[in-house]
Amino acid sequence: MKKIVLGVDVGGTSTKLGLVDREGNLLAESKFMSTEYEFIDGFIESFEKHVDQLVKSIGPDHEMIGIGIGAPNANFYRGTIEYPPNLKWPGITPLASMVKRKFKLPTLLTNDANAAAYGEMIYGGAKGMKDFVVITLGTGLGSGIVSNGQLVYGYAGNAGEVGHTLVNVHGRHCGCGKQGCLETYVSATGIRRTVYKLLADYTVDSKMREVSFEDLSAEMITDAAHAGDEIAIAAFEYTARILGMKLSDVVAHSGPEAIFLFGGLTHAKDLLFMPTAKHFNNNLMPIFKGKVKLMPSELNNKNAAILGSAAMIWKHYEDGDLSTLS
Ligand SMILES: [Zn+2]
Repeated sequence: MKKIVLGVDVGGTSTKLGLVDREGNLLAESKFMSTEYEFIDGFIESFEKHVDQLVKSIGPDHEMIGIGIGAPNANFYRGTIEYPPNLKWPGITPLASMVKRKFKLPTLLTNDANAAAYGEMIYGGAKGMKDFVVITLGTGLGSGIVSNGQLVYGYAGNAGEVGHTLVNVHGRHCGCGKQGCLETYVSATGIRRTVYKLLADYTVDSKMREVSFEDLSAEMITDAAHAGDEIAIAAFEYTARILGMKLSDVVAHSGPEAIFLFGGLTHAKDLLFMPTAKHFNNNLMPIFKGKVKLMPSELNNKNAAILGSAAMIWKHYEDGDLSTLS
């Protein structure tokens, strides 16, 4: 019997799921719209149907050892999704225990950034590393911190909120209710806000002047910067300066061997990495200089979220604590 894991990515729009082996092969995958289910019971029903189909599609001789789920606002210890702004289920949803009851398999739930860190650890560039950090740059900024081979969850199960550390006391308002959080500057949304600020402050020509805030995407800003647009280039420089400085703080807190950058904004490659590395190195304490690698995630593909959730199960299965944790 070949052992496999079910990896799940619950997103605001769609839920993706796939069967993954230890080598990171995606044996079968499927997806359905999360938005259709106002109530969790309907979601679980649809989820079960999709899992049954997936399992049938790969034939016999497989043993599923667990289910790993990545979801926004997930609490690892409690297996709950708590007050998610982008999902329809209000309050606290005990998703892990509901899934576990249905399938009678160990089930773990974590947030997207921690899932990305598990993915990097098992399938990506962090293989063999015991101390590293993954920063996810999507709509927001997430972080997964690994210390001595274990994800840092903190006392209550929600450590690793680098995106909501302070950049500017009187800064931009954040979705979390605070002001001046890192993710209001460094994320796909953050760089769009920066472009609009720069367009207001300067009079130079820019193609982005014709685009509404809603239509402006991080890809457009990247393309504009590649085409020499001064506002777009300045926006990347501004974003990278704040990111580089904050990452040097992350190093001071956690002393990692490497920091991996993951997600949409990293597709800008050198536009983001070169200035980030410059500001990062300039701000590192001398004792850390030359000792911390800053690199792109090796899991930047469309299945990264499924692989990351599956990797969480493999990690705890191999650590021998899967059944005690789930
Ligand atoms: Zn915040």
